Amino acid sequence: MEPYFHLKGSYKTSADVTAARAEVEKFIEESKATILQKGVPAGRGAKIINWEIRDNSIFFDIESDRYLRAHDAFIRLRKPLAGVIGKAYKIGVRGVDVEEFIVKMPSKEPLHQQKIPFVKSIEFEDGMITLSLEVGETQLENKIPDRIISLIEDKIAAQSFGGKTEHWSLLWEGPKKEMTFNGDPTVEAEKRGWIKRAAGRGQWIHGPQMTRIFRTFEQIVLEEVIKPLGYVEMIFPKLVPWDVWKHSGHAKGVYPEIYYVCPPKTRDPAFWEEVIDNYKVTLEVPIDMIAEKIDKPLGGLCYAQCPSFWPFMQGKTVSDESFPVKVFDRSGTSHRYESGGIHGMERVDEFHRIELLFIGTPEQVLEHSKQMQECYKHVFNDILDLEWRMAWVTPWFMAQEGLTGLAGQTGVGTIDFEAPLPYRGKDGEWLEFQNLSVNGDKYTKGFNVKLQSGKDVWSGCSGIGLERWASTFFAQKGYDEKNWPEVFREKVGEMPKGIKFM
Ligand code: ATP
Ligand code: ZN
Ligand code: MG
Repeated sequence: MEPYFHLKGSYKTSADVTAARAEVEKFIEESKATILQKGVPAGRGAKIINWEIRDNSIFFDIESDRYLRAHDAFIRLRKPLAGVIGKAYKIGVRGVDVEEFIVKMPSKEPLHQQKIPFVKSIEFEDGMITLSLEVGETQLENKIPDRIISLIEDKIAAQSFGGKTEHWSLLWEGPKKEMTFNGDPTVEAEKRGWIKRAAGRGQWIHGPQMTRIFRTFEQIVLEEVIKPLGYVEMIFPKLVPWDVWKHSGHAKGVYPEIYYVCPPKTRDPAFWEEVIDNYKVTLEVPIDMIAEKIDKPLGGLCYAQCPSFWPFMQGKTVSDESFPVKVFDRSGTSHRYESGGIHGMERVDEFHRIELLFIGTPEQVLEHSKQMQECYKHVFNDILDLEWRMAWVTPWFMAQEGLTGLAGQTGVGTIDFEAPLPYRGKDGEWLEFQNLSVNGDKYTKGFNVKLQSGKDVWSGCSGIGLERWASTFFAQKGYDEKNWPEVFREKVGEMPKGIKFM
């Protein structure tokens, strides 16, 4: 079954067109073989099934398949038609009016979402989704119908696609290890006073001992990955305005998981005096009053670490001598609203991550990803002595952004690094403790980055979650230092004493 488009609409004219009837008819007959046939396989495309001259307008009824969509045909006719009536009769086209616009698309099942922008109604019958669009001239000119159609196609694909886990495949698996611990690492860390629940949701205060462990992990990453691979450090912003997420693609899906940031409407103390006085008198923070005094969200807190880097490259052509680019950031926290999913230290709303970002030609990026995997293997096998595996997963951005994307670029996608947590039992879900993505031209296109030599530019990134490393390491090795690998113990050095309470 094929998609079908049916549009009824008219061009509003500055005067009655009746006198120009013959010219209009001639134009329409000719256009069937010319304008409407351009770039369209013979016999396909859009058909004018009816047209009429009405009061100060010319009405069209157009039907089409996907080769020249009815709305595109309607738009294509406008300029040349205006030329015909303008020249001989001094009549202008003053705009368009879409009376009815029906789109039918094949689908195995009805669409779950019933609220789509500019769509009046959605029906499903006999393997076809029928949409009735409510669009005007601006929407036609801004290609809104095409985007509605891609959106629906993506939704249909996503519905049958299910979720991330379905597209999981094993890439590499290390040997089984004897586990020396089977408790919940967060519970044990809390018991020992290494970490304490913070006042915010999904947030922890890391005491001196856990902090030492995090810093040791960082040092390992510096020595075993960052230095040998030639990375340089940068500092990426942690408050991300919408514009960055528009370019990175996150604006297409990140909403349920971000922490929104709102600025005050003004910093005039008089404007806020009411709030201050209210607090002083009630000792309750008047959040409803505050809600009225803050502006709309200007963005959110860092979600993925790399988008904020890209404005540094935006619109630039990189000199060949700076290629490939390898930079990393560890300058601040990432934040996600994990909702019911928060668990212990491994799934939190505020976490610490080192992000490594590389940019190069497709060959360089793919080769670099392989080198990085080798570095990681060394770390997890020889230094942390973990049981772990690598899995190829459906590109996260395809899942997050609705499946349109780079499916055609081979080697593009994400590797999840996963480890079993003994306390979850033999068949428990493995924890993703870090990842490594080859993003193809997603970011370089999104931020318009080019290379001096004119070659294609790709990028990749790897996010090392310190809470996840800690959860994995302690879940498998426990807190008894004598069960830690010798090399790791040496790097940790003497553990700080921590703070004792009475
Ligand atoms: P999950 O499926 O476990 O939620 P994710 O696919 O959302 O992970 P990514 O978006 O790939 O995670 O983020 C990259 C890395 O950031 C993860 O491998 C992990 O180390 C870290 N990370 C992501 N979310 C959290 C979180 N809520 N708490 C701690 N670390 C996190
Ligand atoms: Zn990234
Ligand atoms: Mg997640």
